[in-house]
Amino acid sequence: MPKQTVRDVEWSGKRALVRVDFNVPFEREPGESQSARISDDIRIREALPTINYLRERGAGVLLCTHLGRPGGHVDPSLELTPIAARLAELLGTPVSYVHDAPGDGARQAAGELRAGEVALLENIRFWPGEEANDPDFARALADLADAYVNDAFGTAHRAHASTAGVASFLPAVAGLLMDKELTFLGGALHDPKRPMAAVLGGAKVSDKLKVLQRLIGHADALFVGGGMAATFLRARGLPVGASLVEDDLVDACAAMLTDAEDKGTRLELPTDVVVAERIEAGTETRTIPASEIPDGWMVLDIGPGTATRYADLLATLGTVVWNGPMGVFEVPPFDAGTRAVADAIAHSAAVSIIGGGSTAEAVGSLGLADRMTHVSTGGGASLEFLEGRELPGVAALADA
Ligand code: ADP
Ligand code: MG
Repeated sequence: MPKQTVRDVEWSGKRALVRVDFNVPFEREPGESQSARISDDIRIREALPTINYLRERGAGVLLCTHLGRPGGHVDPSLELTPIAARLAELLGTPVSYVHDAPGDGARQAAGELRAGEVALLENIRFWPGEEANDPDFARALADLADAYVNDAFGTAHRAHASTAGVASFLPAVAGLLMDKELTFLGGALHDPKRPMAAVLGGAKVSDKLKVLQRLIGHADALFVGGGMAATFLRARGLPVGASLVEDDLVDACAAMLTDAEDKGTRLELPTDVVVAERIEAGTETRTIPASEIPDGWMVLDIGPGTATRYADLLATLGTVVWNGPMGVFEVPPFDAGTRAVADAIAHSAAVSIIGGGSTAEAVGSLGLADRMTHVSTGGGASLEFLEGRELPGVAALADA
């Protein structure tokens, strides 16, 4: 069901409570709980269109985010000072940092907020009412504004006070980033340009099981890589050496192989793999057929033959959804498969949707993010979306 967005509200003279996801990573020095250096400000930059849209239309903008996991207590190392500073720099306008959210300080700051001005509430997870989705806490937040905007796609899979509860008390609409995420991810799932395929990798089958099951019979093809390929190889009855295998999911993988055949979804597994005895740069590696993994050796990447085969097939697609790296891409040379697949997707004419935190990181570090149609900002949220689950933060918004 499509949702109303900031475009559906008359903002002049109104105050908007905007839930953003400024849960950014920091560079940490050894022994330091948090330094002031944000190592990647993409989540802040992605929220700028919504903030500027609201400012230009005469709204006062009251921002709300979480940072880290303070667990309902004040944690000075998780205050938002560096974030407020970076946001002010990016907006080119002052941002007042309010060290409060449900109390008098926040009410006063909200009351003083003029059209076009921006204020940032304190880390919302400093209060236990946030993660408990306490209705009184949600109402206190709602009292600060005339309308609620959710632009925090990355947190939309959580039913918290600032992501879901508050929407019961205010007109609630999607921000521009949220709208973009729903349009691209929803489009790839519900009305894809065909042929449509998904590339699924990462460490564990258990993380991706529901996505796999959801896409069998829906996608035209599924390409499996990463650590989870080993569980599929085992399901085919092959030896997998010391690879990471989830024994309790071997039967589920066997069932998916059969199901895919019955439903006409091509389910592609690696035919050659890169193995090693240790996950270590510079360690001895072997490139071997996927059917010949020796005792004591682990699958750490798809092989070059598989990479070429996947790349050739990817070039023929209308839509590709990619979630999960093809190997231990953080440790060269086990990054080669991920690199090859990223290149193939980036240079194909297909609509390309990247979901998953590590996958987005890999695409970003290869400098290919701009060549993708959409790189989702929501790791866990994009995964739950692809599973076909309704996200509480989305469900709470007004239907279009
Ligand atoms: P995403 O965040 O994109 O959803 P995941 O979190 O599922 O991706 O998986 C990413 C992790 O999977 C990476 O840290 C990577 O090192 C690991 N991984 C990939 N291939 C393997 C493998 N063959 N063996 C062990 N770990 C792997
Ligand atoms: Mg991950």
